[in-house]
Amino acid sequence: MDADGWPVDLGCGWLHSADCNPLVQIARDLGFQVDERAPPWRDSNRALGFAPGEHEAFREAQSAFYDRLDVAAEAPDDSEAARWLAPDGAWNPLINAVSTYVNGTELDRLSTKDFVNYHDTEINFRIVEGYGALFAKLAEGQPIVFDCAVSVIDHSGSQLRVVTERGEMQARAVIVTAPTNIIASGALRFLPGLADKVEACAALPLGVANKIFLAAQGAEDLPDNARLFGARNRTDIGAYHFRPFGRPMIEGYFGGQFAREVEKDGLPGFADVAINEVAAALGSSWKKRLRPLCASFWASDPHALGSYSHALPGEWARRAQLAEPVENRIFFAGEATSLHNFSTAHGAWQSGERAAAQALRALMD
Ligand SMILES: Cc1cc2nc3c(=O)[nH]c(=O)nc-3n(C[C@H](O)[C@H](O)[C@H](O)COP(=O)(O)OP(=O)(O)OC[C@H]3O[C@@H](n4cnc5c(N)ncnc54)[C@H](O)[C@@H]3O)c2cc1C
Repeated sequence: MDADGWPVDLGCGWLHSADCNPLVQIARDLGFQVDERAPPWRDSNRALGFAPGEHEAFREAQSAFYDRLDVAAEAPDDSEAARWLAPDGAWNPLINAVSTYVNGTELDRLSTKDFVNYHDTEINFRIVEGYGALFAKLAEGQPIVFDCAVSVIDHSGSQLRVVTERGEMQARAVIVTAPTNIIASGALRFLPGLADKVEACAALPLGVANKIFLAAQGAEDLPDNARLFGARNRTDIGAYHFRPFGRPMIEGYFGGQFAREVEKDGLPGFADVAINEVAAALGSSWKKRLRPLCASFWASDPHALGSYSHALPGEWARRAQLAEPVENRIFFAGEATSLHNFSTAHGAWQSGERAAAQALRALMD
């Protein structure tokens, strides 16, 4: 997306686990510029709004919490991640806020075992031209039909019948990559019904994460590549990345229930929330210096109904269940089917390669 001439990503932006993310090399081979500068979220020197020593204290509390999750995940039974917060821990609201960014949901709706299954090497790169631009490039020349939602996959006959907005198709095999909320909502149905797939999708709902980009007048006054939380003692806050790539803008990130709420009043309402939070921290003069450029509204997007999947407590085994083919001719891909790289673009990519190999094998049988 173009924002004041800058390419910005309203969705996926980071090449997570960049040291083992296949899209890094693919991007380089296609001539994209990969920015290897570390993100601001782990660096106390670039954490704004904390008193001296506070960011380190927060990071310690967060890391102790993650250690408790690792131990809890060894138990036979799954649990909700919120259970492992320190009783009355001062940093609990902020740890929960970070969960809304990472998982798209609050910790009381998050499976401990699934969260621990996520593979994070903590190396994160970005693509200067935009992660979305990489996928646009990869799609060039491919026979892709847009604005053609599938409503039914009928597997009652010897051929699959795929019903779309623009008519029907017959197929020997299909790969389903629609988001879990689309399948759970019934917007895409199977005939006869596949109850276990619908149940798996409902147990792996998309949480919500939304971004807003604000142009900053006199941006040189802001520290480069730094991060500010809207507050330190609440969960319903945005996180703000100042001057990403050194650009004169702020990238705001909202997650969970709060991200759902800021969708209600469109761009003006979303911008008010973000500008007020930043101005509360930096001074009221910033109210006049910030101007909304664009924002995402993923929960309201009828073809997404959310942002990325998490497993509800007790439901960590559903990713493998969702990934299982049906009748060796309906194959499933998409981030939610990835056991260790869910909620990411590279997880979706790898799952697509897995499903394509399965489909090719089936077609050659
Ligand atoms: C705000 C935000 C920030 C993110 N940040 C990152 C990040 O930094 N790094 C990272 O790796 N990932 C990030 N992600 C997650 C990443 O974008 C997803 O994990 C990835 O796009 C999932 O790919 P997918 O193919 O599984 O699903 P999608 O990308 O959702 O693709 C599913 C496709 O199915 C289509 N569809 C829906 N319904 C139908 C239907 N009925 N018929 C036909 N087609 C249909 C949709 O239009 C869509 O094109 C972010 C996501 C968001 C929203």
